[in-house]
Amino acid sequence: MHVNGKHFMVLGLAKSGVGAIQLLRSKGATVTGVDSRNISELPIVQNLVDNSEISFSRDREADLKGIDTLVVSPGVPLSHPLTQAALHRGIPVIGEIELASEFLAGPTLAITGSNGKTTTTSLVGHILKSAGVPSQVGGNIGLAATDMISTSNFLQWNVLELSSFQLETIHRFHPQIAAVLNVTPNHLDRHGSIEEYAKAKGNIFRNQRSGDWAVLNATNPISNSYKTNAQIARFCGDSAFVSGSDIELFGKPLMSVNAVPLPGGHNLENVMAASALASLAGASHESIAEAVSTFKGVRHRLEFIREVRGIKFYNDSKATSVDATLKALEALPGPLWVILGGLDKGGSYLPLAPQLKLKAKAALLIGSAAALIEKELKDLTHIDICGTLETAIHSAVNQAQPGDTVLLAPACASYDQFKSYEHRGDVFRQLVEAI
Ligand code: ADP
Repeated sequence: MHVNGKHFMVLGLAKSGVGAIQLLRSKGATVTGVDSRNISELPIVQNLVDNSEISFSRDREADLKGIDTLVVSPGVPLSHPLTQAALHRGIPVIGEIELASEFLAGPTLAITGSNGKTTTTSLVGHILKSAGVPSQVGGNIGLAATDMISTSNFLQWNVLELSSFQLETIHRFHPQIAAVLNVTPNHLDRHGSIEEYAKAKGNIFRNQRSGDWAVLNATNPISNSYKTNAQIARFCGDSAFVSGSDIELFGKPLMSVNAVPLPGGHNLENVMAASALASLAGASHESIAEAVSTFKGVRHRLEFIREVRGIKFYNDSKATSVDATLKALEALPGPLWVILGGLDKGGSYLPLAPQLKLKAKAALLIGSAAALIEKELKDLTHIDICGTLETAIHSAVNQAQPGDTVLLAPACASYDQFKSYEHRGDVFRQLVEAI
């Protein structure tokens, strides 16, 4: 891609947009940054404009005259009038991943899917690190892809978590190993239909060749049906599956299912996917088994915190929806003390009732949604209105028996009492560590 001396417009100036600007400037391009927000709300951009590095325009006033390429951020839908105008005029429209991939040295291992991306990508990074296979991790988590360029080299894997939005604008991006973990209805407001959404995810395979690998989920109809030029490995299928009490990987026993520390069938799928991917990138069976058994999980996602007097504590603060809470309830054996509540998101809590009835000693309610949850669930499970996370933990600790589990999986947003779900999870951890 010719960058030096060309004029790029970058639309959407959050983390990845700013990363794209910095890359383009370092390669000698002229850059116009565009956002719907006023520049006074964008301090980094303001700084770049003050130093005459770039020019800035509000999206409604932006002019495509003289622009060679438009770089769109994953947060901006392709239906944006400026993107549509660029496409209409034949101006190439690319995303930050496409741009970064032109400059990333070394092979790429890319992971997408509706659910489990962060867990699987983090686990692949953890396995490769402990197996001594050089790698760096980023994309939709941690480092933006453009920020991985300076630390990339020809002998090191670039492990990328990618969203469907990042994959919408792929032309030449070419991962040597790529996975679609699963496709379930998600973000349909933006993609329009499940077909368009599946197509965006399938772009991850678009430029693969016969020597590359595509990793598919045999139990997910959409993932399983992608067509690709690459060789195919199927998890929950021929390449990685559970046989009796063991996981088999590429025809050889890998490890016992009991040695997988992450709870739940969904995490077993993530482990099989990550193991297949890491194996294809060069990790041995022994090193994969060792690394999986020491993986602590990803923070705030059904994360084991500690055991006190035989009582286990799990932080699933990322469970901000009833669906995610249900996954957590299904994943853990009872008896459970379940901390629910926060800012209500408008759905019904009734789908939780069967699992709560089966496993919970009580639902400990916090935050502004407590009254709503009580109204729906009071005849179906034991309710304890606690108000705050601190009171809920104390109440659980005072009543729980050895063998019980205390689970924070609130099924609500956090903003009534916390800055974010991460903040809520951190407070939970601190309180549990102080017991
Ligand atoms: P993502 O990055 O795709 O959002 P995460 O790894 O952060 O996925 O997991 C978020 C939530 O998605 C988890 O708390 C769990 O409820 C659910 N989840 C994780 N892995 C899977 C999977 N393989 N299948 C279905 N649901 C999953």
